[in-house]
Amino acid sequence: MGGSGPMNAPGQARTTVFTQMSALAMRHNAINLGQGFPDESGPDHIIEAAALAMRDGHNQYPPLAGIPQLRQAIADHQRRFYGLEPDTEDGIVVTAGASEATAAAMLALAGPGDEVIALEPYYDAYKACAAMAGATLVPVRLEAPAYRLDAERLRAAVGPRTRVLLINSPHNPTGTVLEETELAAIAELAVERDLIVVTDEVYEHLVFDDHRHRPLASFPGMWDRTVTISSAGKTFSVTGWKIGWASGPADLIARVKAVKQFLSFASGTPFQYAITEALNTGDDYYRDYVAGYRERRDFLVAGLADLGFTVTEPQGTYFVTTSAAPFGAKDGMEFCLDLPERCGVVAIPNQAFYADPDAPRPEVRFTFCKPLPVLQEGLDRLRRGLHRAT
Ligand SMILES: *Cc1c(COP(=O)(O)O)cnc(C)c1O
Repeated sequence: MGGSGPMNAPGQARTTVFTQMSALAMRHNAINLGQGFPDESGPDHIIEAAALAMRDGHNQYPPLAGIPQLRQAIADHQRRFYGLEPDTEDGIVVTAGASEATAAAMLALAGPGDEVIALEPYYDAYKACAAMAGATLVPVRLEAPAYRLDAERLRAAVGPRTRVLLINSPHNPTGTVLEETELAAIAELAVERDLIVVTDEVYEHLVFDDHRHRPLASFPGMWDRTVTISSAGKTFSVTGWKIGWASGPADLIARVKAVKQFLSFASGTPFQYAITEALNTGDDYYRDYVAGYRERRDFLVAGLADLGFTVTEPQGTYFVTTSAAPFGAKDGMEFCLDLPERCGVVAIPNQAFYADPDAPRPEVRFTFCKPLPVLQEGLDRLRRGLHRAT
């Protein structure tokens, strides 16, 4: 990905590493611990609710902002978990996943010549979204292997052209959950420099142990300048439904809506009904959900460490970042391209999440959004393939 044009010309676009690795997974019949989509569908009653909505005739365009019931459920969710109170009429917009919310927010809030700061490594869509807006993404690195925020480094990255801080916590791919002091430093900087903050909180319910997710919008001075983005895909294991949302102050949400009306306009009517029910589910769903993933995390982390990977234990998300350096790997891309044939397992090289994806790095990301037997089989295959005498 050259740094020349704002983005690749149509037709020259590189397929993403996720597409590439998932294709390799198919070809080698490999266990796919690369792309983050669960094997299981979400809870039965939510699937039933979608089917029922279709049979009840909810199959035409929903309102641009989303059906009122879902906006109410999103507002209730924000109050229940965080004490936030977005306005159901003009403070919430339902989107085609967090992806569309992020694209619309970038197009609405950043423009040519502007800079958007993101924590590096970052979700690969961020750079593309900033580029579509004509803006430049400025990475602020979380250093391996701890991946904590260096507040001074963030401060130093803010310049006269900085418009937006695009913050993702719980953080994909590292599993970092920004803690109170880190979030407070971001908030303080945003207020001081009058910046807009866009937050990607799609893993808000996947936070382990004593760690806590706290939205930046809940910090002093932040509500009026923050667009909070989330999605049902990860929380309810329905990534193919693409129901996401953005919430915040009326003026910022109005700008997001103004762009979104010419992207998808609106989508997923029956799924919006089903996600209304999903969000209104009792606390035990969320508790069981995180408990299940905690077990999978502990299992995969222990297994990978036992194989010889250096592991950064994730505090949130369903990803674990490891280093393949103990296997002599300097280039994670090379390692991951080789892995399906060598072991029958697919993983994602973390360098795909860096501003220069061609610069070799030894880190490799595995997902644990798979049932324990699948994770076990993946570990068995890695053991056989990596430890084979050469
Ligand atoms: C999966 C993911 C998304 C995409 O969410 P959708 O609702 O599927 O569009 C956005 N951000 C991060 C960090 C993700 O991991």
